[in-house]
Parts: sequence; C-alpha cells; structure tokens
Amino acid sequence: MQKFLFQGLLRGALTEPPPRPEDAMLAELGQALERAAREKLGRSLAIREVDAGSCNGCELEIHALSNAFYDLERFGLRFVASPRHADVLLVTGPVTKNMKEALERTYNATPDPKWVVAVGDCAFDGGVFAGSYACVGAVSQVVPVDLHIRGCPPDPVALLKGLIALVDKAG
Ligand code: SF4
Repeated sequence: MQKFLFQGLLRGALTEPPPRPEDAMLAELGQALERAAREKLGRSLAIREVDAGSCNGCELEIHALSNAFYDLERFGLRFVASPRHADVLLVTGPVTKNMKEALERTYNATPDPKWVVAVGDCAFDGGVFAGSYACVGAVSQVVPVDLHIRGCPPDPVALLKGLIALVDKAG
C-alpha cells in the first residue's frame, strides 16, 4: 500500500495541459465584437441560447464563452434568460420534433431586429442525427437563419468570429 502511495505522490500529472488560445488574439476578437455591437446597436449584444435538441457538446463550448478563462462578458457579450430581451438567438442541435414548436415560439417572441445563428453541424444539416425519425433537421427548416457556425462542436474562438461577422454584416 505504501509503495502505491509513494508512487502516486512522486508521479507527475498524467494529463497534458490544454492548448491555450492566444490571449492577445482573444482580447482583440472580444474588443472587435464590442465595438461592432456598440456601433450597430448602441449597446452590448444580448444573446438567448436555444437548445433545439443538441447532444450538449455545442452548449459546453457556448458556456465556455462565459467561463473565467474566456470571460467574454468583459467585452459586453450578455446571455439573457428571455427571448424578449435578445438580439441574437443562438440555436443548437438538429431541431427535434418535440422542440420545433418551442423554437418557433421563441423566434416569434424575439423583437425585431433579430438575428438567428445556427451553431454546429447538427444545426446546419442535422449532422450525425440527420434522417432520425425524431428530428425535423436543420434549423433553417424551422426559422430563417442569418449565419451558420459549423463544427462539431465549434470552439469559442469560432463562435466569437462568427458573432463579429454577423454584427459587422448587420445594416
Ligand atoms: S454539432 Fe456535434 S457537438 Fe453540436 S449538437 Fe451536433 S453532435 Fe453535438
């Protein structure tokens, strides 16, 4: 027993450190998003996340935007609890039949001007769930989509770049 305890104490970490995105690049992207949102909206960007049937992989990456590492609230990116307070709907997953009506109602409850961003390969064309009897399929089959951010799942940097492109494009 003692032998194993000593081995455990002396052995280094078996995991590798995660890859670190460039802090400077992240700060630059965040500032670009904040600038674009203030120019186009006059305030920070309010986002309502809608899980329309995802495996939660996309949610984990979206959630990472708010963690202590990325901390994108410092650039004025806000997640809101109601579609009535949102500028952007961030929709994930192949839309399941059970979530179709909820997605439509969320879209209708969001005030104009509004943008819909479909996040992940499932939201683009059903991804690995395409053809399932339980799914409607792409988000664009249910509500109009302004931007697709591909990936399974897309990482926070890809999400940020997509949001900047969206706000920049907005008239
Ligand atoms: S795109 Fe990938 S991570 Fe996102 S919901 Fe589909 S399977 Fe999950």
